[in-house]
Amino acid sequence: MSEENTKDLTPEEKPVESKNFIERAIDQDLAEGVYDHVHTRFPPEPNGYLHIGHAKSIILNSGIAKEYGGKFNLRFDDTNPMKEKNEFVEAIERDVKWLGADFEDRVFFASDYFDVMYEKALLLIRKGLAFVDDLTAEQITEYRGDFNTPGKESPNRNRSIEENLRLFQEMKDGKYADGTLTLRAKIDMASPNLNMRDPIIYRVAHVSHHNTGDKWCIYPMYDFAHPIEDAVEGITHSLCTLEFEDHRPLYDWVVRECEFPNPPRQIEFAKLYLTNVVTGKRYIKKLVEDKVVDGWDDPRLVTIAALRRRGYTPESIRTFVELSGISKANSSSDYSLLEYCIREDLKLKVPRMMAVLDPIKLVIDNYPEGQTEMLPVPNNMENEALGTREVPFSRELYIERDDFMIDPPKKYKRLYVGNEVRLMSAYFVKAVSYETDADGKVTVVHCTYDPATKSGLNFTERKVKGTIHWVNAATAGKVTVRLYEQLIDEEKGKLNADGTLNFNPNSLRVVEAYVEPDLMKVKPYQSFQFVRNGFFTVDCKDSTEEHPVYNRIVTLKSSFKLEQPKA
Ligand code: ATP
Ligand code: MG
Repeated sequence: MSEENTKDLTPEEKPVESKNFIERAIDQDLAEGVYDHVHTRFPPEPNGYLHIGHAKSIILNSGIAKEYGGKFNLRFDDTNPMKEKNEFVEAIERDVKWLGADFEDRVFFASDYFDVMYEKALLLIRKGLAFVDDLTAEQITEYRGDFNTPGKESPNRNRSIEENLRLFQEMKDGKYADGTLTLRAKIDMASPNLNMRDPIIYRVAHVSHHNTGDKWCIYPMYDFAHPIEDAVEGITHSLCTLEFEDHRPLYDWVVRECEFPNPPRQIEFAKLYLTNVVTGKRYIKKLVEDKVVDGWDDPRLVTIAALRRRGYTPESIRTFVELSGISKANSSSDYSLLEYCIREDLKLKVPRMMAVLDPIKLVIDNYPEGQTEMLPVPNNMENEALGTREVPFSRELYIERDDFMIDPPKKYKRLYVGNEVRLMSAYFVKAVSYETDADGKVTVVHCTYDPATKSGLNFTERKVKGTIHWVNAATAGKVTVRLYEQLIDEEKGKLNADGTLNFNPNSLRVVEAYVEPDLMKVKPYQSFQFVRNGFFTVDCKDSTEEHPVYNRIVTLKSSFKLEQPKA
């Protein structure tokens, strides 16, 4: 509830504020004077596009900063030059901005701190807390032990400080090949936490970096780099996902031993997962590389770029993240909750227009030939503020194929010979006959109209059970419409017997549709409801002024029911 709504309530009447565990932890830190302000960050690795899971982290981090009057940074965690690209940097910045997260001018790159990291590594060596090792990767794994076996110390663990300094300098100078020497923190090989068993903090990699070029041939490891990045930027609360919980002792060790004066605090929360879709950058990347989808912004994906192209709004994603909740327990959100959020967001905001996706002709035999009337149609019956528009109407129209049946079942309320229906915002019409092609497929339906029923809604002398939409044939525009279904068919099981993903062959269906004239004068990202057919948006890539292309955002019907909180 906003402050506006609650300000006249007595304290007893005010709803109890339900803060999540992160807000409660921050409240406590502020109350105890651990910090006197709040500063958060979102630290993506630029090795792919952001997805709906990242949106949760972005909205959480920027939301916390806003709530506490603090600051929020966007920081590219670009310490692994192997997989990172500038294309991703640009896409990520665009997506974070689009979601409305305000980092002002604070866009940072972890690679800008390579000098600080190097200095801190030297500090650790001088304090006797880091050593250069020449064990191979396999040996290091073997020496590390496991949950039941304590680790074994490396024979190089007690090298002199001087020798460590010399070797580390030589690593930096390029004297060693990739995968030879490493710099390791000297912590505790007997620790029950494997992350504390002398973790590697620097490795040799002769790879150009997208930001620092060939300046470095040694690169820091994530567990060493990340806490330093946070500390350098003065982050107070470093919010990350649950898989880092076991890394927290190492995080705290690094900021402490590197002697940062105001160490940040790491707090973990559960990742957002979605049913029926592929989240996880690695998996999305594979779909893109295998050309299962048409790029990172294919509207069937749940990257932020794909959701935007599909017609999702930042507001709908924000609501989705809020309804999914922030917790410590891993769980999966229903895809239909995301669909619910966009429907709710667009319901009153966008005009409701007429488009026929699978057309057959409807001829009104008794309507004057050559006559066209302009009928006023409300843009949104539930929101008068959107006004009305004029839609042409004449003797020949298009209607949906399934709005007419030769042999209707009992409950069918739409057109069949002898039955009368309402043409939305127009007249009552009664079907009198139909024509078919050689295969027996209906091509034309003939009907008669009753001029007294004009506008349909105000006519009360007799009732009809069905209302159908239509498009005037002579002025209809032709557009391409893309109808989407889930990429993965989870009903049949997410994986095939051979372990590959079970793709839904109907995930994309393309149809040519007839639309009313106003749907031809549109711009990318403009969204509409096509009555009875769903919400649609103009595709930002393939739509042209002559030939619009519409993506279906979501159908109108929902299987999803939002649980009402119990009173
Ligand atoms: P993925 O798991 O998709 O490969 P990642 O964690 O490797 O993503 P990063 O670029 O490292 O991607 O993530 C940036 C931030 O986003 C991290 O703080 C990470 O914890 C957070 N994040 C990633 N996935 C999710 C998710 N599903 N839900 C919430 N936060 C996430
Ligand atoms: Mg990662």
